[in-house]
Amino acid sequence: MNPKTNIIHDSIIIGTGPAGLAASIYASRYGLKHLIIGILKGGTATEAFMVENYPGFKSISGNELMQKFIEHVKQYNPEIIPTEVKGIKKQGNYFEIKTESSKTFKAKTIILALGVHHRTLSVVGEKKFLGKGVSYCHTCDGPLFKDKVVGVVGGGDGALTAALFLSKYAKKVYLIHRRKEFRGQVTWQRSVEKEKKIIKVSQRQVKEIRGDKFIKEIILNLPYKTKKSLQVDGLFIEIGTLPSGGKIIFKPPLNLKRDKLNYIITDRSMKTNIPGIFAAGDITSPPEKLRQILTASAEGSIAASNVQRFLIKRG
Ligand code: NAP
Repeated sequence: MNPKTNIIHDSIIIGTGPAGLAASIYASRYGLKHLIIGILKGGTATEAFMVENYPGFKSISGNELMQKFIEHVKQYNPEIIPTEVKGIKKQGNYFEIKTESSKTFKAKTIILALGVHHRTLSVVGEKKFLGKGVSYCHTCDGPLFKDKVVGVVGGGDGALTAALFLSKYAKKVYLIHRRKEFRGQVTWQRSVEKEKKIIKVSQRQVKEIRGDKFIKEIILNLPYKTKKSLQVDGLFIEIGTLPSGGKIIFKPPLNLKRDKLNYIITDRSMKTNIPGIFAAGDITSPPEKLRQILTASAEGSIAASNVQRFLIKRG
């Protein structure tokens, strides 16, 4: 048995995106004995090809920014367990956290910073062509589409930045959005307008993805310039996110309060309905809140500071 499993930590932070990493930095500075569970990569923020709204950095890739977070975290030397959580159970006045590696860890408090995962279109062909032209990560797969034709679905910052990133490689990028107006930042919209390789296909939805070994075409709900389908070599789906961690946190006996989309409901101090469990970052409600590296890190730091208060109060 791992001897460390008998230690009762002040806190266990689950998740290694901006919220979890910021929580760890604050926890270290408050002197909280804590560990982080998760693969130390930096979360989905690493997929942002350019971040231009994080104060102090005029322009930096998401990956580079998160590497800086990781370096900062490591400076305090917290214990990091690179695995996944399988279940959480309350035991008296502490929690037991079971991991994929069959080890169990104990903590007086938990900070859930599990982030989000990509929303899917749920159309015919999406699953079949995943990895065969369909992708949810433009920074990972974009360079494979040099001089090819690709489509991007969505109208938020994710889709706009994906289209801009892909225009560096592909010869043509269809930006397909279901409405006329984009919801992404105006600065990204202006850059999209300027990029000649990007062709906006507004008020259209992808109904089906077709191909043989690889994706070949996408079927739209309405004709675009007389054609009802577009020939593409790749399709990047950037239509937002949904909260992660369904398997572990959204089931009894935990009974965490969530909203109708499963985002965790917290108060302003990042407390959940379960005393001792805090949540921070993209996984928290409301669904329409600003989800940025800046706001996730702010929530992580608020959670850690309230963990400290909670522990002092409890004695
Ligand atoms: P988002 O802001 O929620 O936008 C999702 C987009 O997908 C919306 O335009 C939405 O259409 C569309 N959509 C949703 N479901 C759809 C469906 N079934 N079919 C077709 N279209 C659908 O998501 P996001 O763009 O992934 O961004 C998430 C968060 O990360 C935001 O806070 C964003 O600011 C942040 N982010 C920032 C950067 C950056 O600054 N570098 C990059 C990426 C993401 P409607 O407009 O009609 O609702």
